[in-house]
Amino acid sequence: MQLKIVQAGEAVLREHARQLTLDEIHSRETQDLIESMRQTMYQAPGVGLAAPQVGVGLQVAVIEDKKEYMKDAPADFLKERGRKPVPFHVIINPKITLSDEAEVEFFEGCLSLTGLTAAVPRARAVKLECLDHRGEPKLIQASGWYARILQHEIDHLHGTLYVDRMYPRSLMTVENFNRTWKALSIAEARNLLQWK
Ligand code: ZN
Repeated sequence: MQLKIVQAGEAVLREHARQLTLDEIHSRETQDLIESMRQTMYQAPGVGLAAPQVGVGLQVAVIEDKKEYMKDAPADFLKERGRKPVPFHVIINPKITLSDEAEVEFFEGCLSLTGLTAAVPRARAVKLECLDHRGEPKLIQASGWYARILQHEIDHLHGTLYVDRMYPRSLMTVENFNRTWKALSIAEARNLLQWK
């Protein structure tokens, strides 16, 4: 079932999501929620979707970065971002630690802030302890774009949106980003927009 993605201004996006018990993870209700979130993410399309974005205050997120999403991007654009395909998976009750605190900044967007994008500094690499869709413990080590996706989705589980972390002067429409800024390196965009 496709779900409605809520937009900024819905209180649930600003609340701390609750952890799930193992019984809850195994329940038909949670398994249905995961399947619906997966379909909703594909439909959007997006590379991640957290339960608060479909109005559910639970610590669940789905992630998948498909090769087909990258087919039109130049190789150096993908390389600069460390972006590679990530298979579908579910993270539940995640605990994140920054394994490389060195920050990298890139433009990112959010399905709950339609039409906008901004430069956001994020840790280069993270480590994650979480449960998967079966309630099995998982340890995830991620760097590059995948690390950014994880940080973005886990922020959602704590009521944080990228606008809380962005460089305000970099905020723009996706349309303008694609027309004017996408072709520039991040350093060139930073210099021209003077966001730091
Ligand atoms: Zn988001």
